[in-house]
Amino acid sequence: MNKPLVLVVEDDTPVRNLITTTLKTHEYRYLSAQNGASAVMEALSHNPDIVLLDLGLPDMDGVEIIRKIRSWSNMPIIVISARTEDSDKIVALDAGADDYLTKPFRPTILLMKVKALLRRVEMDRGKTAAEDELHYVDIRYSATENAVFCGSTIVALTQTELRLLSYMMKQPEKAYSREELLSAVWGFDSEVETRVTDETLRRIRKKLLQAGSTVSVSTIWGFGYKLKGAECT
Ligand code: CA
Repeated sequence: MNKPLVLVVEDDTPVRNLITTTLKTHEYRYLSAQNGASAVMEALSHNPDIVLLDLGLPDMDGVEIIRKIRSWSNMPIIVISARTEDSDKIVALDAGADDYLTKPFRPTILLMKVKALLRRVEMDRGKTAAEDELHYVDIRYSATENAVFCGSTIVALTQTELRLLSYMMKQPEKAYSREELLSAVWGFDSEVETRVTDETLRRIRKKLLQAGSTVSVSTIWGFGYKLKGAECT
C-alpha cells in the first residue's frame, strides 16, 4: 500500500513544522499550504487521503475551506484549532469536518486520530456485499456510492453523519445508547463528547427531512436514540 498523503493546512510555521515532522517520521507523505486559497488548490489537484486543517488562516476561515472541499469531495478532514468552545467544534463538524483536535496538542494524539480516521475510511470501503446496501422505510444506504438516498435524492450527509446513520440502519429496530454510537463512530480515543452525538443526530434529522424522507431519529431520554419510520409512529 502507498504511504497515505496528508495535506497540512497551517499558517503558523512552528506548528506546521511540528505536524510535518511528526508525519515524516511516521511514514506519511505530506503537502502543506499556508492559506485557504492554496489549501483548496492543493486539495483539488492532489486529492490527498486526509486533510489536517487549521481554522484561523490569513485569507479565509477554515470552516469555509471545509465547505468548499465538501462541495466536491468527502475526503477525511481533521480540524486542528486553538478554538476550544463546543460551539466552534459543532460549527466545524456541521460544515463536514470528521474530527477535531484542540491546540496545544500532543503529536501522538494527532497520529492516533489520523490513523483511526484512515482506518475507518478503509473499513467503509472494504464492506462486504451483504453490507453494501441497507434499507429502512424510504431511505437506502449504498456503501459503493458512499451515500444515503431517499428515492433518487441524495441526503447531504457528512462522512461522520453517514457513518452514524448507516451504523443505525444495520439494525434499524434497535435502540442505540449514546456511548455505543460514540465509540462506533468516533472511536474510543475521541475527544468528542456525548453532546456532539446529540448535535450530529439533530443534523441528520434535519437533512432527512430536507431530502423528503419520513425517517427520523427519536430520542430515548437518558439512554440514546432509535430510528423512526413513518409507519411506526
Ligand atoms: Ca492559524
